[in-house]
Amino acid sequence: MADPKGFLTTGREVAETRPAAERVKDWNEVYVRGSLLPIISKQAGRCMDCGIPFCHNGCPLGNLIPEWNDYAYREDWTAASERLHATNNFPEFTGRLCPAPCESACVLGINQPAVTIKNVEVSIIDKAWGNGDVTPQPPERLSGRTVAVIGSGPAGLAAAQQLTRAGHTVAVFERADRIGGLLRYGIPEFKMEKSHINRRIEQMRAEGTKFRTEVEIGRDIDAAGLRRRYDAVVIAAGATVSRDLPVPGRELNGVHFAMEYLPLANKVQEGDLTVSPISAEGKHVVVIGGGDTGADCVGTAHRQGALSVTQLEIMPRPGEERNTNQPWPTFPMLYKVTSAHEEGGERVYSVSTTHFEGDEDGNVQALHLVEVEFKDGRPAPKPGTERRIPAQLVTLAMGFTGTDRSNGLVQQFGVELDERGNVARDADFATNVDGVFVAGDAGRGQSLIVWAIAEGRSAARGVDRYLTGVSALPAPIRPTDRALAV
Ligand SMILES: Cc1cc2nc3c(=O)[nH]c(=O)nc-3n(C[C@H](O)[C@H](O)[C@H](O)COP(=O)(O)OP(=O)(O)OC[C@H]3O[C@@H](n4cnc5c(N)ncnc54)[C@H](O)[C@@H]3O)c2cc1C
Ligand code: SF4
Repeated sequence: MADPKGFLTTGREVAETRPAAERVKDWNEVYVRGSLLPIISKQAGRCMDCGIPFCHNGCPLGNLIPEWNDYAYREDWTAASERLHATNNFPEFTGRLCPAPCESACVLGINQPAVTIKNVEVSIIDKAWGNGDVTPQPPERLSGRTVAVIGSGPAGLAAAQQLTRAGHTVAVFERADRIGGLLRYGIPEFKMEKSHINRRIEQMRAEGTKFRTEVEIGRDIDAAGLRRRYDAVVIAAGATVSRDLPVPGRELNGVHFAMEYLPLANKVQEGDLTVSPISAEGKHVVVIGGGDTGADCVGTAHRQGALSVTQLEIMPRPGEERNTNQPWPTFPMLYKVTSAHEEGGERVYSVSTTHFEGDEDGNVQALHLVEVEFKDGRPAPKPGTERRIPAQLVTLAMGFTGTDRSNGLVQQFGVELDERGNVARDADFATNVDGVFVAGDAGRGQSLIVWAIAEGRSAARGVDRYLTGVSALPAPIRPTDRALAV
């Protein structure tokens, strides 16, 4: 145990963020660089090394949290990094972006603020990269078997890295022009700078993973062609079909899916565009959807110079304390103030959009909404509460309905879908088609990066067993797992 009295003598401190007025002028990560290192060892010392570490179960990867807290407390960063990588291929992604269900399950959290697990995680991995401890781990010998991974989000990357290290020859096919999935073209730079992805890709290339960008399976290469060339296939194509809002005026210019708006802002940061063709500059912006994707639209609109930003949510505002039906150690639905919300804008709950209003040129100018109350689980409009808010840009961030079926991927492979429209799989992440596996949002539905990595690792074990009959690769989860988290 790190510090037997740490939890009694040290209070919780988290990474310091730059002042909101300063950070909205740039796209760099919102944190003060280097602010964690002076405090993090003491923070890791708050870990009680509980007999039953519930945080292990709260983390879908089963991260060995008390073990690396101990090493971080002792400032043995090399050993901490080794323990962290034992369960997580990409801690620099989760340490920045994970909502940290582990902290909701931390035993100290029962009656005190939880250990800052996510901050310890990111400190360990940043230190490891800085110290040169993250090096390529190519396999000692090749198996002679080949695997195609479709999609380069966190699920595809995790599966590819595990399978490459197990000795298989792995190619990742990505329809976008860069590797990374939603890490690259969904999540804004201010939440995670893309240099973190580039560095990992270099490590993976050095280990032997091949990457093919701008190749869409189903269109550019059909399923049969891929099956002929590879012994196994992992579908890690995400759940990229956005949920629409079919109300009058939806067709007006200026009403866009969040995933039409956010990738363009990312492309400006990559240097592909000088300005985004869909910009919030000088506009009243309304974001429909109160989740993470919506918050990313809010932060992006601030940085583009919006006149105002309003975020709408149909559900009531969540509470700030756990509900009795979401007791410790579950991951509760709580009111969250993200960095984007700290930067400004208004959040409106319990409202539903009735229609959009446009000008004679077909450009959106306003949004009409009505307050709702839930009756028998369904939102019912409250008469007399209709109102209009100005909007020259509206983004729809209401979630995703499943994996893309427009390119023929699902049909050509002949994989079955489950009742929610996701690719169905068994306990080994295998689909109904021999040699075809699925991982991440494509099988799970819209979820989190930590789940995508856990699924990629687990599917890799299924593939390895399929190819060789046995596997020494770890499988943190089964497809049906919901653990204590989301
Ligand atoms: C805006 C936004 C913000 C988010 N923020 C967070 C966050 O802060 N924290 C968090 O934990 N989660 C967040 N999420 C969720 C998280 O990003 C996803 O759960 C995760 O990326 C899913 O990983 P994946 O690998 O399954 O799929 P994806 O990341 O979606 O990657 C799938 C890839 O497959 C490619 N592809 C699809 N079809 C084909 C094909 N036929 N051929 C070749 N390539 C194909 C796609 O182009 C894409 O690159 C966010 C999601 C969004 C949309
Ligand atoms: S990956 Fe997420 S849940 Fe797991 S230890 Fe890190 S922050 Fe916690």
